[in-house]
Amino acid sequence: MKAKSKKDHIRPVIVVHGGAGVISKKTPEKQVEKYKEGLLTALKSGYEILKNGGSAVDATMASVLEFENNTLYNAGMGAVYTRAVTHEMDASIMDGKNLDFGAACTIQHVKNPIKLARAIMDKSPHVLLSGSGAEAFGREQNLKFVKNSFFDDDFRLTQLEKAKKENIIVRDHDIEEVKPMGTVGAVAIDIHGNLAASTSTGGTTNKLCGRVGDTPIPGAGTYADNRTCAVSCTGFGEEFMKKVTAYDLHSRMIYSGLSVEDAARKVVFEHLEPGSGGLIAIDSNGCFTMPYNTPGMFRGYQTGENEVVVKIWE
Ligand code: ASP
Repeated sequence: MKAKSKKDHIRPVIVVHGGAGVISKKTPEKQVEKYKEGLLTALKSGYEILKNGGSAVDATMASVLEFENNTLYNAGMGAVYTRAVTHEMDASIMDGKNLDFGAACTIQHVKNPIKLARAIMDKSPHVLLSGSGAEAFGREQNLKFVKNSFFDDDFRLTQLEKAKKENIIVRDHDIEEVKPMGTVGAVAIDIHGNLAASTSTGGTTNKLCGRVGDTPIPGAGTYADNRTCAVSCTGFGEEFMKKVTAYDLHSRMIYSGLSVEDAARKVVFEHLEPGSGGLIAIDSNGCFTMPYNTPGMFRGYQTGENEVVVKIWE
């Protein structure tokens, strides 16, 4: 897809996802509307920043923050449960202008993990911090801390009980009858032509403690390079890490000269295992794509004041 751009400046675009998986078509219409509202709110926050000349980094972070503060989505307040009935979250952010990257993994007490990832990118000499060390850095940065039980949720607990009973580790949205949501992410191009990507997740239900998914790994769940594209992935993290998916997409563009759409199609439909997930990606011309190899993916884009689209299955 291509956003029509005016000749004199780059037209800003933001694309978001709220997770891919086996999203039940039996989801009640009222719930579907709530999920769509969540997507629209995330788009609006990000687009507002872009429209006023703000950076793609700020815009993608703003969108992800909205998702993290919405219990419907598996990130921040809606984070799923580990096998030990706790919550451990991962998040990352990347600036395509200079390849700066910040990420945090196995976070248990920071209210908004994407803020911690941003602080790590902007204010630490490192790229990825984990667990207690990451949280100690977050305290130095005066981020908001909460008890791990702050993330507790009855629906998520039902999901965990079901996963435990079946002895499986599942993406959030693969468990029908309960809130069907997963990892969240945003990619954007700003009026200066810079690209950025942000991703945040509670991971997979019934995961072992200490498990880290693709979300905070540079090039696996998140990547951005102004020469090619910005990417945010959702799906089985183990598969996306093994295939270094976000960087794979970038590589196909830079080394084979593929368009973002062709590169993304190859990655999602020819390289990833069928049913493993999806991604959103945007290139330096504002062309974007949102492919997934699961039954559905919560996703949407905003290309102008009133040009907003959100989708789930279609
Ligand atoms: N990619 C996430 C993870 O493996 C989960 C998801 O996107 O549903 O942690």
